[in-house]
Amino acid sequence: AKASGPGAVLLFEAQMQDQVSSRARLQRSLAEALQQHAFALHYQPQLDQHGAVVGVEALVRWHLQGHGMVSPAEFIPLAEKTGLIAPLGRWILHAACSQLARWAHVPGCSHLDMAVNVSAVQFQQEAFVEQVQEVLAQTGAPAARLKFELTESLMMYEIDSVIARMKALRALGLRFSLDDFGTGFSSLAYLKRLPLQQLKIDQGFVRDILDDHNDAAIARTVIALGESLGLEVIAEGVETEAHRDALQQWGCRLYQGYLFSRPLPVAQLGEFLQQRAGG
Ligand code: C2E
Ligand code: CA
Ligand code: CA
Ligand code: CA
Repeated sequence: AKASGPGAVLLFEAQMQDQVSSRARLQRSLAEALQQHAFALHYQPQLDQHGAVVGVEALVRWHLQGHGMVSPAEFIPLAEKTGLIAPLGRWILHAACSQLARWAHVPGCSHLDMAVNVSAVQFQQEAFVEQVQEVLAQTGAPAARLKFELTESLMMYEIDSVIARMKALRALGLRFSLDDFGTGFSSLAYLKRLPLQQLKIDQGFVRDILDDHNDAAIARTVIALGESLGLEVIAEGVETEAHRDALQQWGCRLYQGYLFSRPLPVAQLGEFLQQRAGG
């Protein structure tokens, strides 16, 4: 496990000798946390080539009493295995849509897109489309501003049912981004069939584009692929000006990463937006 921000340094392995009991305990805590509303969303800005904030990615945070922050990289996979991803995913969607609905009335925020990570397990749930419809109706969030980040693990499912579901959500006005692109089970034949609007270059490729010819070649190829398929391309994990400049030179127009901002609680995001607007 790795830390996911300042103070987020919980390593269960280090604290609990027995891996199995640690997992069981984490699983119990996860179930309790759902009941006790111990989750929060942080928001990481996404910027265009002019430096304007065009949207945010919602990233879930779990504050576990007496332990600190648990990384989603640690508990999301566990939630997927135990089925807890269903209620957790619903909570995440509801929280993100509530925020999106609020922004619709805030000057300078109504244009912001909200990207929400949807795990393949959650997406493939029988009633997922109805659930999204329900949450949109409950919160009043504008569907046209909502974007789902899907991963290539969806390709392990029956592709026609995935496409049908994506189309049903497109009909509601939502958009799709393919997250961690190039790290999973990509098949270009499938890629062409999915009703996607955006590809997201994985941070694993972005990190070393300046030193690693192969990573640079992959990033350039994803950008070119996006262009020829008519898809937006966003790079995540943009940490330095040099990253941004290289990506920009290759034709990438959207960026997300520590160079601009870490994921922020909503109040701090408001300050960040105000600062950018002010100068
Ligand atoms: P992801 O979707 O690929 O999210 C990007 C991760 O990279 C986030 O970690 C983010 O904080 C981090 N990051 C952003 N900018 C930079 C940067 O410049 N440098 C580096 N080194 N890292 C950066 P986080 O928040 O710990 O999330 C980890 C993973 O957990 C996510 O990867 C996603 O797969 C999953 N996850 C997070 N929130 C949710 C959620 O609400 N639902 C679902 N299903 N999964 C989530
Ligand atoms: Ca993501
Ligand atoms: Ca990603
Ligand atoms: Ca990732």
